[in-house]
Parts: sequence; structure tokens; C-alpha cells
Amino acid sequence: MRLLLVEDDPLIGESIRKWLRKDGAGVDWAHDGEEAETALKTEPYSLVLLDLGLPEKSGLEVLRGLRRRGDTVPVLILTARDAVADRVRGLDSGADDYLVKPFDPDELTARIRALLRRRAGRAQPLIVHGGLTLNPVTHEAEYEGKDPSLSAREFALLLTLLETPGAVLSRAKLEERLYGWGEEVESNAVEVHIHNIRRKLGRDFIRTVRGVGYMAPKNP
Ligand code: CA
Repeated sequence: MRLLLVEDDPLIGESIRKWLRKDGAGVDWAHDGEEAETALKTEPYSLVLLDLGLPEKSGLEVLRGLRRRGDTVPVLILTARDAVADRVRGLDSGADDYLVKPFDPDELTARIRALLRRRAGRAQPLIVHGGLTLNPVTHEAEYEGKDPSLSAREFALLLTLLETPGAVLSRAKLEERLYGWGEEVESNAVEVHIHNIRRKLGRDFIRTVRGVGYMAPKNP
């Protein structure tokens, strides 16, 4: 999962980025409206966290531009407590939800999961594949009745593959989904995660497609 965070306040931005990375998401951080617009035109994101009061171009302008281009990426706006009118304008301009600052990290990640779930059209949040069950809400995994103790990145990687069984994703694509801009990625990080997942779950859930990438088979 790769998210775009648009926030000009360095302290708020840094803490949000830290929470989300701990949760296993790749996060790109744009510090003003222009930077956000450029990022949105060039990268595919799973979701956008959008502050409204921004230098260069306001969050509302970014949002309106996005929807004018027909981009339906879920947008969660971040607003100040007293900015009721902004919040209403944001929702009217195509935002999917909002959070009032300051907010609790658990509430932020819960709202993100709800939006992603709504987008994926899954009323039922559990992903069940073979003898494996992943709960994207609680990050719990169960395999043959036991907890395989996946790390946050391993869980995110497996979830990414299981969301589109049968589709081959390249290493670059997986890195893109797991890591954000400027985040140090070891050249073999994806291989290491996959090795560890196979150690914990066996080899059935992730197949290597030589020279192309990895996929979760439709029927493990
Ligand atoms: Ca701001």
C-alpha cells in the first residue's frame, strides 16, 4: 500500500509518516500543494491524506483538480477543529472522509482501512486464501489455526499479493507499494521478506515467476 501524505507542518507530517510506516505502508510526503499535484499526476496511490491549509496551492484546489481529472483515489482530509466550513467544502469537493487535528494514530489507521475496504468493495474485511486468513484491520494472520508471527512488512507484502491473486507483481512494483520516497530500501529487501514469509507459511502462497516477479496463485 502506498500513500501520499500532503502536510506542510513538519512535526505533524513527521509523526503521521512514522505511524503509517510502522503500520507497514509506503508513504510519500508532499509539503505543499504544487508538490502534491505533481506527485498525484505521476504516481498511483492507494489513498491521499490531505491537509487543507497549504502553501502554493490549497488542499481544496488540489482536491478539485484531482476530481476534475477523473481520479477517484480515496482522499481523507485533515482539518483544524474550528474549520467546519472547510471540512464541508472538502466533502462537497469530493473528499471521502475527514479527521480533525489532533487525532489519535489508531483512529487515523482505522479510517484509512475503512476507506480502502470501501474502495475494494469488501464488506467483509477478512482475506481468506487457502488455509490462511489475514485481517487487514487488526493485522492478525492465522495459518492452520496458528499465528505465523508475520512482521508488518511481511504482512503488507502478502496482503498486496493476495489482493490480486493470479496477477504477477514485479519486485519494483512491490517495493513501490511497501516503501515511500527517500526511504532506504536494501536491494534485496523484497526477496528477504518473501524468504521469511515462505519460512513461516511454506511455499504455496507466493510463487516466483522467473524474470518477471511474484504472484499469489489463485488456488494455493
Ligand atoms: Ca497546514
